[in-house]
Amino acid sequence: MKLIRVGIPGAETPAVLGLAGERFDVSSITADFDASFFARGGIADLQTRWDSGELRRLPTLDPHARLGAPISRPGHLLCAGLNYADHAAESNMAIPEEPLLFTKAPNTVVGPYDDVPIPRGATKVDYEVELGVVIGSTCRYLNSPDDVWSHIAGFVLSNDLSERVFQLERGGQWLKGKSCEAFNPLGPWLVTRDEVDLAGGLDLWLDVNGERRQSGSTNSLIFPVDVLIHYISQFLVLDPGDLINTGTPPGVAMGMAEPAWVQQGDVLTLGISGLGEQRTTFTPAT
Ligand code: ZN
Repeated sequence: MKLIRVGIPGAETPAVLGLAGERFDVSSITADFDASFFARGGIADLQTRWDSGELRRLPTLDPHARLGAPISRPGHLLCAGLNYADHAAESNMAIPEEPLLFTKAPNTVVGPYDDVPIPRGATKVDYEVELGVVIGSTCRYLNSPDDVWSHIAGFVLSNDLSERVFQLERGGQWLKGKSCEAFNPLGPWLVTRDEVDLAGGLDLWLDVNGERRQSGSTNSLIFPVDVLIHYISQFLVLDPGDLINTGTPPGVAMGMAEPAWVQQGDVLTLGISGLGEQRTTFTPAT
Protein backbone atom coordinates (compact mmCIF):
# COMPACT_ATOMS: atom_id res chain seq x y z
CA MET A 1 0.00 0.00 0.00
CA LYS A 2 0.88 3.62 -0.46
CA LEU A 3 -0.16 5.87 2.44
CA ILE A 4 -0.68 9.59 1.85
CA ARG A 5 -1.94 12.58 3.81
CA VAL A 6 -4.12 15.14 2.04
CA GLY A 7 -5.04 18.70 2.94
CA ILE A 8 -3.73 21.94 4.36
CA PRO A 9 -0.62 21.94 6.57
CA GLY A 10 -1.38 20.73 10.06
CA ALA A 11 -4.84 19.42 9.17
CA GLU A 12 -4.13 16.61 6.71
CA THR A 13 -6.48 13.66 6.25
CA PRO A 14 -4.97 10.16 6.10
CA ALA A 15 -5.67 8.26 2.90
CA VAL A 16 -4.59 5.22 0.91
CA LEU A 17 -3.61 5.68 -2.72
CA GLY A 18 -5.64 3.52 -5.10
CA LEU A 19 -4.29 1.80 -8.19
CA ALA A 20 -5.81 4.48 -10.43
CA GLY A 21 -4.64 7.34 -8.22
CA GLU A 22 -7.78 7.51 -6.11
CA ARG A 23 -7.30 8.90 -2.61
CA PHE A 24 -9.38 6.69 -0.30
CA ASP A 25 -10.18 8.60 2.89
CA VAL A 26 -9.31 6.37 5.87
CA SER A 27 -10.05 8.97 8.56
CA SER A 28 -12.96 6.78 9.71
CA ILE A 29 -10.34 4.13 10.59
CA THR A 30 -7.48 6.24 11.97
CA ALA A 31 -7.17 9.92 12.86
CA ASP A 32 -3.67 10.10 11.41
CA PHE A 33 -0.57 8.12 10.41
CA ASP A 34 1.11 8.83 13.72
CA ALA A 35 2.89 6.95 16.50
CA SER A 36 -0.29 5.41 17.89
CA PHE A 37 -1.38 4.23 14.42
CA PHE A 38 1.89 2.39 13.84
CA ALA A 39 2.10 1.11 17.44
CA ARG A 40 -1.30 -0.57 17.31
CA GLY A 41 -0.55 -2.41 14.07
CA GLY A 42 -2.42 0.05 11.92
CA ILE A 43 -0.71 -0.98 8.68
CA ALA A 44 -1.68 -4.63 9.09
CA ASP A 45 -5.24 -3.55 9.83
CA LEU A 46 -5.38 -1.34 6.72
CA GLN A 47 -3.89 -4.16 4.63
CA THR A 48 -6.66 -6.52 5.77
CA ARG A 49 -9.27 -3.92 4.88
CA TRP A 50 -7.58 -3.28 1.53
CA ASP A 51 -7.47 -6.97 0.68
CA SER A 52 -11.17 -7.35 1.49
CA GLY A 53 -12.09 -4.42 -0.76
CA GLU A 54 -13.36 -2.35 2.16
CA LEU A 55 -11.01 0.58 1.54
CA ARG A 56 -12.10 0.87 -2.09
CA ARG A 57 -15.66 1.55 -0.94
CA LEU A 58 -14.62 4.54 1.17
CA PRO A 59 -15.16 8.14 0.00
CA THR A 60 -12.34 9.64 -2.03
CA LEU A 61 -10.56 12.95 -1.47
CA ASP A 62 -9.93 15.75 -3.99
CA PRO A 63 -7.22 14.46 -6.36
CA HIS A 64 -5.81 17.98 -6.72
CA ALA A 65 -5.61 18.85 -3.03
CA ARG A 66 -2.18 19.35 -1.47
CA LEU A 67 -0.25 16.28 -0.34
CA GLY A 68 1.37 16.66 3.05
CA ALA A 69 4.19 14.51 4.35
CA PRO A 70 2.86 10.92 4.46
CA ILE A 71 3.40 10.63 8.23
CA SER A 72 2.61 13.02 11.03
CA ARG A 73 5.48 14.77 12.78
CA PRO A 74 7.97 12.09 13.92
CA GLY A 75 9.30 11.91 17.48
CA HIS A 76 12.86 11.32 16.34
CA LEU A 77 14.23 12.52 13.02
CA LEU A 78 17.66 10.90 12.80
CA CYS A 79 20.08 10.96 9.90
CA ALA A 80 23.10 8.92 8.89
CA GLY A 81 25.94 11.12 7.66
CA LEU A 82 28.51 10.11 5.04
CA ASN A 83 26.83 6.77 4.36
CA TYR A 84 27.91 6.57 0.69
CA ALA A 85 31.66 6.26 0.14
CA ASP A 86 31.70 8.55 -2.90
CA HIS A 87 29.77 11.25 -1.01
CA ALA A 88 32.27 11.06 1.86
CA ALA A 89 35.06 11.52 -0.67
CA GLU A 90 33.45 14.56 -2.32
CA SER A 91 32.95 16.06 1.15
CA ASN A 92 36.66 15.61 1.92
CA MET A 93 35.71 13.53 4.93
CA ALA A 94 36.86 10.05 5.91
CA ILE A 95 34.56 7.07 5.50
CA PRO A 96 33.18 6.54 9.01
CA GLU A 97 34.18 3.36 10.82
CA GLU A 98 30.81 3.33 12.57
CA PRO A 99 27.56 4.99 11.48
CA LEU A 100 27.71 8.76 11.98
CA LEU A 101 24.42 10.00 13.39
CA PHE A 102 22.90 13.42 13.71
CA THR A 103 19.46 14.84 14.31
CA LYS A 104 17.20 17.27 12.54
CA ALA A 105 14.35 19.06 14.25
CA PRO A 106 11.21 16.97 13.60
CA ASN A 107 9.26 20.07 12.58
CA THR A 108 11.40 20.34 9.42
CA VAL A 109 9.16 17.71 7.80
CA VAL A 110 6.92 19.23 5.10
CA GLY A 111 5.04 17.99 2.05
CA PRO A 112 6.66 16.77 -1.18
CA TYR A 113 5.61 19.78 -3.26
CA ASP A 114 5.72 22.51 -0.61
CA ASP A 115 7.82 25.63 -1.19
CA VAL A 116 10.88 26.02 1.05
CA PRO A 117 12.07 29.47 2.17
CA ILE A 118 15.76 30.26 1.94
CA PRO A 119 16.71 30.78 5.62
CA ARG A 120 17.60 34.29 6.75
CA GLY A 121 21.31 34.87 6.25
CA ALA A 122 21.80 31.65 4.29
CA THR A 123 24.44 31.54 1.57
CA LYS A 124 25.14 27.82 1.11
CA VAL A 125 21.85 25.93 0.83
CA ASP A 126 22.35 22.35 -0.34
CA TYR A 127 20.23 19.27 -1.09
CA GLU A 128 20.52 15.55 -0.25
CA VAL A 129 18.17 12.97 -1.79
CA GLU A 130 17.82 10.07 0.65
CA LEU A 131 15.96 6.87 1.35
CA GLY A 132 13.86 7.47 4.47
CA VAL A 133 12.82 4.63 6.77
CA VAL A 134 9.71 4.90 8.94
CA ILE A 135 9.77 2.86 12.13
CA GLY A 136 6.72 0.65 12.73
CA SER A 137 7.39 -0.69 16.22
CA THR A 138 9.77 0.04 19.08
CA CYS A 139 13.44 -0.72 18.37
CA ARG A 140 15.37 -1.28 21.59
CA TYR A 141 18.62 -3.29 21.73
CA LEU A 142 17.70 -5.33 18.66
CA ASN A 143 19.62 -8.61 18.63
CA SER A 144 20.78 -8.56 15.03
CA PRO A 145 20.29 -6.76 11.71
CA ASP A 146 17.95 -9.59 10.69
CA ASP A 147 15.55 -8.45 13.42
CA VAL A 148 15.21 -4.98 11.92
CA TRP A 149 12.83 -5.72 9.04
CA SER A 150 9.80 -6.55 11.18
CA HIS A 151 10.18 -3.16 12.92
CA ILE A 152 9.96 -1.15 9.68
CA ALA A 153 6.62 0.34 8.62
CA GLY A 154 7.81 1.41 5.20
CA PHE A 155 10.00 3.60 3.06
CA VAL A 156 9.75 7.16 1.85
CA LEU A 157 11.53 9.68 -0.37
CA SER A 158 13.29 12.28 1.77
CA ASN A 159 15.33 15.42 1.07
CA ASP A 160 17.78 16.27 3.86
CA LEU A 161 18.26 19.97 3.08
CA SER A 162 21.29 21.67 4.61
CA GLU A 163 22.84 25.09 5.06
CA ARG A 164 26.57 24.39 4.96
CA VAL A 165 27.74 27.55 6.73
CA PHE A 166 25.35 26.94 9.62
CA GLN A 167 26.30 23.23 9.61
CA LEU A 168 30.07 23.42 9.33
CA GLU A 169 31.35 26.96 9.89
CA ARG A 170 29.34 28.23 12.86
CA GLY A 171 30.62 25.82 15.54
CA GLY A 172 29.04 23.01 17.45
CA GLN A 173 27.00 20.18 16.01
CA TRP A 174 25.46 19.85 12.54
CA LEU A 175 22.00 20.55 13.95
CA LYS A 176 22.01 24.27 13.09
CA GLY A 177 22.50 23.67 9.39
CA LYS A 178 20.04 20.81 9.21
CA SER A 179 16.99 22.09 11.09
CA CYS A 180 16.00 25.26 9.25
CA GLU A 181 12.32 25.79 8.55
CA ALA A 182 10.85 23.25 6.08
CA PHE A 183 14.26 21.60 5.54
CA ASN A 184 12.93 18.04 5.17
CA PRO A 185 10.45 17.62 2.30
CA LEU A 186 8.99 14.11 2.65
CA GLY A 187 6.88 11.90 0.41
CA PRO A 188 4.75 11.79 -1.70
CA TRP A 189 3.96 8.34 -0.28
CA LEU A 190 4.89 6.01 2.51
CA VAL A 191 5.30 2.70 0.66
CA THR A 192 4.73 -0.17 3.03
CA ARG A 193 7.62 -2.56 3.67
CA ASP A 194 6.06 -5.47 1.78
CA GLU A 195 6.08 -3.48 -1.48
CA VAL A 196 9.74 -2.42 -1.43
CA ASP A 197 12.51 -4.79 -2.52
CA LEU A 198 15.81 -3.35 -1.34
CA ALA A 199 17.79 -6.39 -2.47
CA GLY A 200 18.27 -5.07 -5.99
CA GLY A 201 18.95 -1.52 -4.82
CA LEU A 202 16.75 1.52 -5.35
CA ASP A 203 17.89 4.25 -7.73
CA LEU A 204 18.04 7.80 -6.33
CA TRP A 205 18.30 10.99 -8.39
CA LEU A 206 18.03 14.74 -7.97
CA ASP A 207 17.91 17.57 -10.52
CA VAL A 208 18.34 21.31 -9.99
CA ASN A 209 16.39 23.31 -12.60
CA GLY A 210 16.38 20.20 -14.79
CA GLU A 211 20.12 19.54 -14.54
CA ARG A 212 21.05 16.15 -13.08
CA ARG A 213 23.16 16.63 -9.95
CA GLN A 214 22.78 13.44 -7.92
CA SER A 215 22.37 9.84 -8.96
CA GLY A 216 23.11 6.67 -7.09
CA SER A 217 21.77 3.41 -5.74
CA THR A 218 20.97 2.26 -2.24
CA ASN A 219 23.22 -0.70 -3.11
CA SER A 220 26.12 1.67 -2.38
CA LEU A 221 25.15 2.36 1.24
CA ILE A 222 28.14 1.76 3.53
CA PHE A 223 25.80 0.82 6.38
CA PRO A 224 22.62 -0.60 4.83
CA VAL A 225 19.20 -0.18 6.39
CA ASP A 226 19.27 -3.30 8.56
CA VAL A 227 22.80 -2.67 9.86
CA LEU A 228 22.07 1.00 10.49
CA ILE A 229 18.87 0.54 12.49
CA HIS A 230 20.27 -2.37 14.49
CA TYR A 231 23.21 -0.08 15.33
CA ILE A 232 21.03 2.87 16.33
CA SER A 233 18.93 0.65 18.61
CA GLN A 234 22.03 -0.06 20.72
CA PHE A 235 22.19 3.63 21.68
CA LEU A 236 18.64 4.89 21.84
CA VAL A 237 15.07 3.69 21.63
CA LEU A 238 13.36 4.21 18.30
CA ASP A 239 9.61 4.68 18.57
CA PRO A 240 6.83 3.94 16.10
CA GLY A 241 6.52 6.74 13.55
CA ASP A 242 10.16 7.83 13.85
CA LEU A 243 11.99 8.73 10.63
CA ILE A 244 15.55 7.75 9.71
CA ASN A 245 17.27 9.40 6.73
CA THR A 246 19.87 6.90 5.55
CA GLY A 247 22.37 9.20 3.83
CA THR A 248 22.92 10.72 0.41
CA PRO A 249 24.79 9.64 -2.74
CA PRO A 250 27.34 11.97 -4.39
CA GLY A 251 26.50 15.13 -6.30
CA VAL A 252 25.67 17.64 -3.59
CA ALA A 253 26.63 21.27 -4.23
CA MET A 254 29.26 21.09 -1.48
CA GLY A 255 31.13 18.50 -3.55
CA MET A 256 31.34 20.61 -6.72
CA ALA A 257 34.58 22.33 -7.73
CA GLU A 258 32.57 25.56 -7.86
CA PRO A 259 29.56 24.86 -5.66
CA ALA A 260 26.25 25.93 -7.19
CA TRP A 261 24.33 26.54 -3.98
CA VAL A 262 20.54 26.59 -4.12
CA GLN A 263 19.13 30.06 -4.77
CA GLN A 264 15.66 31.51 -4.47
CA GLY A 265 13.61 30.52 -7.51
CA ASP A 266 15.50 27.27 -8.02
CA VAL A 267 13.40 24.14 -8.49
CA LEU A 268 14.53 20.76 -7.21
CA THR A 269 13.03 17.60 -8.65
CA LEU A 270 14.05 14.30 -7.11
CA GLY A 271 12.96 10.73 -6.83
CA ILE A 272 13.65 7.17 -5.79
CA SER A 273 12.52 4.21 -7.86
CA GLY A 274 9.16 3.00 -6.55
CA LEU A 275 8.88 5.80 -3.96
CA GLY A 276 7.69 8.65 -6.20
CA GLU A 277 8.99 12.12 -6.91
CA GLN A 278 9.17 15.53 -5.23
CA ARG A 279 9.24 19.05 -6.59
CA THR A 280 10.51 21.86 -4.35
CA THR A 281 10.65 25.55 -5.21
CA PHE A 282 12.79 27.87 -3.06
CA THR A 283 11.26 31.16 -2.03
CA PRO A 284 12.94 34.29 -0.64
CA ALA A 285 13.91 34.53 3.00
CA THR A 286 11.10 36.10 4.99
ZN1 ZN B 1 21.79 13.63 4.76
